[in-house]
Amino acid sequence: MENLQIIDTVCTYCGVGCDIAASVSNNRVQSISAHPEGVVSEGKLCVKGKYGFGFLESPDRLKTPRIKRRFLEENPEILKAIEPDLIELDERWYECSLEGAIKAAALKLQEIRDRHGARSLASIGGARTSCESAYLLQKFTRETLGSPHVDNCARVCHAPSLKGMRTTIGEGAATNPYNDIYNTEFMIVLGSNTTEAHPIISNRIVDMASKHDNLAVFDVREITLHRFAKYKGIIPHECNLLILNMMAYVIITEELFSESFIQNRTAGFEEFKAQILSDPLANPRYFEEIEGYEYLSKLIPKVAREYALKKSMIFWGLGVTEHVDGSYSVMAIVHLALMTGNVGKSGAGLMPLRGQNNVQGACDMGMLPYYAPDYQSPKEEGLATPELIDEMLEGRVKGVLNMGEDLMHIHPNLNKMERALGNLELLVVQELFETEIAKRADILIGVKSAYEKTGVYINAMRRLHLSQPLVQSELPDDWEVISRLGRELGGSYEYGDSKAIWDEVREVAYRRFSGASYQRLERHRVRGLQWPVHTEDTPILHQLDFRTEDGCGHFFYHAYKPRGMLLEISQKSLSGYYLTTGRTLAQYNNASQTKRSEKLHRRYEEDILLMNDKEASALGVNRVILRSEHGQSAPLWVKPSDKISPKTLFCTFHHASSRINHLFGDRRDEFTLTAAFKSIKVEIIKA
Ligand code: SF4
Repeated sequence: MENLQIIDTVCTYCGVGCDIAASVSNNRVQSISAHPEGVVSEGKLCVKGKYGFGFLESPDRLKTPRIKRRFLEENPEILKAIEPDLIELDERWYECSLEGAIKAAALKLQEIRDRHGARSLASIGGARTSCESAYLLQKFTRETLGSPHVDNCARVCHAPSLKGMRTTIGEGAATNPYNDIYNTEFMIVLGSNTTEAHPIISNRIVDMASKHDNLAVFDVREITLHRFAKYKGIIPHECNLLILNMMAYVIITEELFSESFIQNRTAGFEEFKAQILSDPLANPRYFEEIEGYEYLSKLIPKVAREYALKKSMIFWGLGVTEHVDGSYSVMAIVHLALMTGNVGKSGAGLMPLRGQNNVQGACDMGMLPYYAPDYQSPKEEGLATPELIDEMLEGRVKGVLNMGEDLMHIHPNLNKMERALGNLELLVVQELFETEIAKRADILIGVKSAYEKTGVYINAMRRLHLSQPLVQSELPDDWEVISRLGRELGGSYEYGDSKAIWDEVREVAYRRFSGASYQRLERHRVRGLQWPVHTEDTPILHQLDFRTEDGCGHFFYHAYKPRGMLLEISQKSLSGYYLTTGRTLAQYNNASQTKRSEKLHRRYEEDILLMNDKEASALGVNRVILRSEHGQSAPLWVKPSDKISPKTLFCTFHHASSRINHLFGDRRDEFTLTAAFKSIKVEIIKA
């Protein structure tokens, strides 16, 4: 093949962050395979990593910036200022130059700020762009717009992991490298369909479980990992906190805790112990009375014993965080590690399986309303996305910059979202494609994808990876759009390249990144470096002390109260269906890239509803609509399955046309406002 080059970089999809090697010729990616020396991918990629590059050449890619006709009709001064730049595209859009789009955005931002103040402006970012872009968006929002409102898509996924872990041990990130799975003696996976959502991590878990029979899995439905589990827990919906408290109860009552670790490394254990012992629901015998789940009264103590007595790791996903008690459940996970000393050493740790390829980085860069870069306190706290939606509805937030976060697809309560977005005077969107949020933009700017740029990405084990472009693109990087906008508004954004921004990040966020120069990251492109990176990097966190003010790990007990499915079962009144949602292997989130990669799209062209086979045959139809108190889905194909319990339904949310997220309202985690996507009561209507 002509001019064939092999270029290595990091996969653009999930938080595993696999090392890839792409064959590129004549500025086209021909194929992608695992980097032969990749410490994350270990020679394997999932289908997304392997085949998910077709989007690069999709005819749907946004190229020239666009401005809505309606926006220009409503803003004649802006129309006048950029008129020579406009070319008619269709009945909705004009095309214009990047300069024109930047000028229009800056004029409108300035006008809104002059009329309504800086707090009427906000930025919301996705987490699949680089750290440099995330850093610059929060800097631009805080320093140039003067607004404290900046958030990212961790709001709908692992914000509760950040909250729960920072509250207890001072750092909201995985404590160990993935390869520590090979050093562990026991593993618990809770609320994570790892084989579909984090497949390359799941390979390691399956490998160890097959060899050592050392895996416990809890989920509301039977997932692939259950096949390899010694302890197979199928639990009622919304019971994570209960199960975790019960394990803590067993560890305390059977005195399986580590006295020395508690004494030397933690604070508040005695109070925690008293609280748990006085909570009647913490005793696993509670399940003896719960029809269909009686076996959990015996299974939970067995899991707790093995966990406490062995070198153990816990893995969790959105099945834990996307609930009303998501943050409390994460704290309850940490309690188990603090009681038993299962943290701060190889083979023992806490592993939130974060979703997007750079969601760890987006949070580290301060793209959060309550943290500046490096989790320092911001001058003024802003509002989280769900609060911003309410402010938009009330007409107090009027202008939003959106960097790759499909608010109209992956957030809940989409009828409300539609009304809120309709109230805005300005919505600027930076995107690869005309996604659901992009359709609603006033100004839409096409940007480089991750495979077309240089930048730092931080995966779910805190590993920094410096990406390099596989192909060259004329489109601007996200940070270039923000820099231009910043300069147009009078700010000093004289960055020549992404390295200049990263050098600034290393100064601002020196506690994590002082030693992570581009040069060093380039040298370690395959191995990667785990933060904090100074003279050395840090594969294992919390070895000597926790990153709390007093250096101790802290306990915060929260008693579980039965609700939803569990309450109905205990009252013998179970009716209707409980829906849980999640991902499938071949698609990724809003599918904007995967559905434009032919080999992936063919595998999963629409969202499918999994239903218990006996219930499905009793229902007698294969196409249904789901309805909740908030809205209804589009018609969905039903796939009967003996792996799913009665009264439980599972559906993916990748395709906007299925309208799954219209079913969800404002139920959310009380600290972080993360939507309770993992359980909602629905009724089935025959379609
Ligand atoms: Fe990419 Fe995640 Fe698949 Fe690895 S596991 S190839 S990072 S999508």
